[in-house]
Amino acid sequence: RSGRSAALRARMEERLLGARFRYLNQQLYTGSSRDAARLFRADPAAFHLYHQGFERQVRRWPERPVQRIVRYLRRRPASLVVADFGCGDCTLAESVKNQVHCFDLVPLSPRVTVCDMAKVPLAAESVDVAVFCLALMGTNLQEILGEANRVLKPGGTLMVAEVASRFEDTHAFLKAMTQLGFRTVSKDLSSSYFYVLEFAKTGPARPGGAPGLRLRPCLYKRR
Ligand code: SAH
Repeated sequence: RSGRSAALRARMEERLLGARFRYLNQQLYTGSSRDAARLFRADPAAFHLYHQGFERQVRRWPERPVQRIVRYLRRRPASLVVADFGCGDCTLAESVKNQVHCFDLVPLSPRVTVCDMAKVPLAAESVDVAVFCLALMGTNLQEILGEANRVLKPGGTLMVAEVASRFEDTHAFLKAMTQLGFRTVSKDLSSSYFYVLEFAKTGPARPGGAPGLRLRPCLYKRR
């Protein structure tokens, strides 16, 4: 009897955690990066819950996108300075020899500098590689990518790994990226889980809007 009620309670807790994760996830994808910063500052426990849910999702995938970024960096000189926007648990920084600036809203690791990725404490043109690994969450994409453009050296590399189903029009997205001062160097659209896009900074963002710069929110289904 007590075994059965414990199992029932565990299942209910699991459901509740799942529901809270999906709710938080939706908030993150449908608000600006500032809203996300406010949300997690007000409720750090929500952040930890979000990360548990995130881990559970990504563990189902055949490969973790961050491993692709790790492999990419290992092929290039370790002297390159990296900025990891939305670093999560800092797997990237821990897996490469490069100097990696880690930015996130709440520190999962002592390496993290807490900030909104739309405004990172780095000088202009100070990094060689900027990374967004499953981290283009806010609706203010143009501002966030503009910040990456600001901190990148001319010719620097922008790496984006993002959930495949978020791209409604990849061609329009890449075209918008040129408006933001990024040339497409390579695109790996082979995984049905996530795309890996490599850009080079051509110069500052051109003034004005970039209408094709849209990603669908990544909403998880109830299972
Ligand atoms: N890059 C890591 C984590 C991806 S999860 C990996 O691949 O494992 C997305 C991360 O982006 C989360 O840790 C989340 O807290 C962070 N994030 C979301 N919005 C942010 C913002 N406005 N500023 C900084 N980090 C943000």
